[in-house]
Amino acid sequence: MTEREAKIKIEELSAKLKYHSVKYYVDDNPEIEDYEYDMMMRELRSLEEQFPQFAVADSPTKVVGGAAAIQFSEVTHAVKMESLLDAFSFEELEAFDKRVFDEVGSVVYSVEPKIDGLSVSLEYENGLFVRGATRGDGVTGENVTANLMTVKSIPKKIDFNGRLIVRGEVYMPHDSFLRLIERQENMGEKIAKNPRNAAAGSLRQKNPKITAERELDIFIFNVQLIDGKEIKGHVESLDLIKSLGFNVLPSYKKCNSIGEAIAEIEKIGEKRGELPFDIDGAVIKVDDLRERDNIGSTSKYPKWAIAYKYPPEEKETVLTNIEINVGRTGALTPTAEFLPISLAGTTVSRAVLHNQDFINEKGISIGDTIIVRKAGDIIPEVVGVARHIEGGTVYQMPDVCPSCGAHVYREEGEAALRCTNTDCPAQLLRHLIHFASRDAMDIEGLGPAVLGVLLDKELISSTLDLYSLKISDINTLEGFGDKSAENLISAINKSKQNEFYRFIYALGIRHIGNKAAKLLVSRFSDIDSIMSATVEEIAGIEGFGQIMAQSVYDYMSMPETALMISRFKEIGVNMKAEETILADNRFSGKTFVLTGTLEKYKRSEAAEIIESMGGKTASSVSKKTDYVLAGENAGSKLDKANDLGVAVISEAEFEEMIK
Ligand code: NAD
Repeated sequence: MTEREAKIKIEELSAKLKYHSVKYYVDDNPEIEDYEYDMMMRELRSLEEQFPQFAVADSPTKVVGGAAAIQFSEVTHAVKMESLLDAFSFEELEAFDKRVFDEVGSVVYSVEPKIDGLSVSLEYENGLFVRGATRGDGVTGENVTANLMTVKSIPKKIDFNGRLIVRGEVYMPHDSFLRLIERQENMGEKIAKNPRNAAAGSLRQKNPKITAERELDIFIFNVQLIDGKEIKGHVESLDLIKSLGFNVLPSYKKCNSIGEAIAEIEKIGEKRGELPFDIDGAVIKVDDLRERDNIGSTSKYPKWAIAYKYPPEEKETVLTNIEINVGRTGALTPTAEFLPISLAGTTVSRAVLHNQDFINEKGISIGDTIIVRKAGDIIPEVVGVARHIEGGTVYQMPDVCPSCGAHVYREEGEAALRCTNTDCPAQLLRHLIHFASRDAMDIEGLGPAVLGVLLDKELISSTLDLYSLKISDINTLEGFGDKSAENLISAINKSKQNEFYRFIYALGIRHIGNKAAKLLVSRFSDIDSIMSATVEEIAGIEGFGQIMAQSVYDYMSMPETALMISRFKEIGVNMKAEETILADNRFSGKTFVLTGTLEKYKRSEAAEIIESMGGKTASSVSKKTDYVLAGENAGSKLDKANDLGVAVISEAEFEEMIK
């Protein structure tokens, strides 16, 4: 490789790694597999070693990934929270051992599982849990104390005088993860990719109540700082904090040689499929704390530790069937059924095939010998076909819904096929939950459990049926009496008088959320004008895109919709927007973006004031933004406003404007 080529490649890899690092650490929404990320990092590291003249100080190989998001205040870590160097072969572990030997001679190691979650520090003063923070860039993290307070296994009070800081990994156990994705599916929300991202997303919530619902857990793996105790070794420190009531790593073991350490890593690897949480490797650490100091650290990771990442385990098996499941959002998902195999410690016989494109790309037919992989995650995946069955043809997804027989369609730009029928039995429960939910028809007492019972007892089979329920249908159900049945019926009846936008949102039209429903009814004030609007007219609404407009148009054009709407009209559900005449319209036509922390208002309060004066709020800054209201610690939005020349106002200036 020439110098010029190396320079270009280094820049390209650095840019890619930085991009994916933001997706992973800041947005909790990675676009690529960890393995792919790790391989890019290796390539960059090796190029920087060969061409040190192009290795810059803020290269991803030198800085700890992550940054503090602006919704949290910052915490400067008393002790740096470092990352770990990774290894993908036992030879690399032996090379690590040699480097340690050259530095300090032979050592005792400790070996422990590497929990796949996100790193936090927990700080105690005189026995009280006072502060918890994410790792961030290792020097500064996010203050997530309120959220960590909801993690049951974090002791809030310990028997200890002085200052103690421990470091641990917050993770989401498999059963909590499965419950979460089921809930997300029911509510038609975005489904979390894996327990690690779900844990990170859950801990970095603005509202601690949501964090509490996510059932996170923690394993403590290090003592960062401890007052008044003379500790010599790592294992000793873990024993000590265990005795204080911390949930310390599930295993940690002293090993007298690298050979013993590798044997322990293999043992952990064999068991990892059985664990009720994800691990993404095992860590070898020099046990003696003084020797650690002698060995030292780079700017990113300690030189006295190394993380071994287990390779994803792969096996061949025969594909016996493809089952099509209809999710609660109507998406048809093909699932491979194959002869059972043992992978990463568990027996698996099913794996998701995603969609037709995936099947085509791999050329999968029933009877093929396929390769299945489990990368330590709970969900196995089909890597590809090892051998095709003779005379096989590539599997084709059905063109009707296997649950209700309605036609399926594929939206432009989407990979999934969807069933068109919102009353399809597979989708009905989710649709009903959405219909009755707080932001939609807001029917008190009609939650997922009650709806599930009403469906099971065949008392309803559509949203319309809710309005024909009688007290006598309900008062005999478990948990109900006369009074509660009466309350439910009156809540259902009350919803007929709801604001019109609620009904539009409750219909569950694809791409039409609560905000879009409001915009739609502010342009078309009754159902008939929405039903007769053209795509162009709908797309002309500010804040509407082409896909949203098409979705409304398609939905309103279906004969089933016309029938359903006429029945809702007969029932007396309100389908007219009330004219809201604002007393004060001073912000009419103006769009605000709010960023940073305001002193006197919550952001939602400031947004309400703006809207009550005829203005709009948006979440990102563009040329169309009129004002950016910037509070303390305003970040990238402020930079963007300055770049685009958008007016930036302070809280004091805002107060002047609303006087
Ligand atoms: P790392 O996750 O590989 O290792 C360091 C972390 O391991 C520590 O911060 C600590 O929280 C954790 N850990 C768990 N158990 C531990 C134990 N027993 N002892 C010590 N530490 C323990 O390194 P990193 O720099 O935090 O992140 C890199 C990881 O993130 C890689 O796995 C990478 O693939 C992934 N990543 C993925 C993407 C993507 O787009 N898919 C992007 C960025 C990073």
